[in-house]
Amino acid sequence: MAIKINFDNSFSNLPNKFYSKIVPEKTKKPDLIILNKNLCDELNLDYKNLASSEGVNFLSGNLVLKNSDPLAMVYAGHQFGNWVPQLGDGRALLLGEVLAKNNVRYDIQLKGSGRTPYSRGGDGKAWLGPVIREYLVSEYMNNINIPTTRSLSAITTGDNVYREETYPGAVLCRVARSHIRVGTFQYFYSREDTKSLKILADYFIKNHFPNLEKKENKYFELFKNVVDGQIDLVAKWMKVGFIHGVMNTDNTSISCETIDYGPCAFIDNYKSDKVFSSIDSMGRYSYKNQPNILMWNMACFASTLVPLLEGKEEKNIDILQKEISSIPEKYKSKWLIEFSKKIGLKNVYPENEILINRFLEILESENLDFTNSFRGLIQEVENSNELVSKTDTFKSWKNDWKKLLKNKSSKEEVCKTISSNNPAFIMRNHLVEQIIQELLIDKRDTLNKSLACIEKPFEKISHYENMYVSPTKEQEVQETFCGT
Ligand code: AMP
Ligand code: MG
Repeated sequence: MAIKINFDNSFSNLPNKFYSKIVPEKTKKPDLIILNKNLCDELNLDYKNLASSEGVNFLSGNLVLKNSDPLAMVYAGHQFGNWVPQLGDGRALLLGEVLAKNNVRYDIQLKGSGRTPYSRGGDGKAWLGPVIREYLVSEYMNNINIPTTRSLSAITTGDNVYREETYPGAVLCRVARSHIRVGTFQYFYSREDTKSLKILADYFIKNHFPNLEKKENKYFELFKNVVDGQIDLVAKWMKVGFIHGVMNTDNTSISCETIDYGPCAFIDNYKSDKVFSSIDSMGRYSYKNQPNILMWNMACFASTLVPLLEGKEEKNIDILQKEISSIPEKYKSKWLIEFSKKIGLKNVYPENEILINRFLEILESENLDFTNSFRGLIQEVENSNELVSKTDTFKSWKNDWKKLLKNKSSKEEVCKTISSNNPAFIMRNHLVEQIIQELLIDKRDTLNKSLACIEKPFEKISHYENMYVSPTKEQEVQETFCGT
């Protein structure tokens, strides 16, 4: 059966300054590792068709469909605070866009499909490790209700990829509401190309905020919407102990989806200044610094919009600055709502903030697991013995917490709130590492277990006990690397 996808491309109709049209490199012997059935259904794609050898050829870049119009997007960005005037998809190609069942438009992109004009010194390829990491972590994020790019498939190419050693090459098929980044706006802004900047902003508004199209101050409204979306996103990352690791402006999506799963990881034992990434020696993108970086990235975005705003420039800058200054307060109230739910409270009471911070201090000083300790509060609701910790500090915290819970909601309600806001399963780094090592010797045990856990992250599968525990000292991953 011939493979058919109803591409409905719009980005490729923008002026050619926005991209380079280029076809994916051929792969030697593509083989399917994972194909996402749920996502196929959501996108109106035929799972069986995509799983066929022709489908796998398509998902590896070997087969370019007639109605696909592959292109590498251009962008710029601040990497670790340093300005880079030109970046772009160095190892990714947008194949086209499709309309999902809910009529929402999605980009279909291949990652690891070969060199593009933006590859600089890179080979444009990816190996199995980063492809599997991105597949698992992004699908996990989606299933714990955090906005993210999705993964449709992971394929091995049959080609070798050379890093420090030789590894099996792989291609990920990434799906996103949009691949437009703060860096895309920065690219045109830095070239003083206001005409293209306007085309970009109008294009984004048309596809994402059609209700803003007729508004007088639509670019300012766009900014406010993106700021709100980014606040929501980062608060949700903090809630689950997610460290993105490389929050450069080229990895900050205007559609406010988590994008670019490189050196990311979830915190095991809580440490507020935790860093995983091997290249983040200054801790710029540490756990606790993520909200500050969000503000920094939004300030970069704001600058790019100045040429588009009507009226006096000084006044416009003033309005944008006020919006940026409001980020910490808005973020804090979002954080408070999310963390209150983590301790079982659906409402924010005056006592919540101190109580949450005291709990975090206990986790940090006693070296306790972040998510499992919050989830452990379910047992503490009923139990008179302390299970999360045996210390007096925790006992006294538990007393105060119980006092606050009393009369606020029923025990059942509290337990329900805790269990639906603290996942039982975390796609921990040591599991990802184990899965990659197993796949390298053709074993799929931990991969299959993880895929089952990802399906229902807020429940425990009874015979998979060891999937839910924090890593042993030996298993703990100390450092993560950019996914190339
Ligand atoms: P990242 O830090 O993963 O966002 O990547 C930064 C830039 O480097 C992006 O423009 C990527 O497209 C590019 N890049 C990363 N890895 C490779 C690679 N293996 N080959 C070519 N370009 C790459
Ligand atoms: Mg990137």
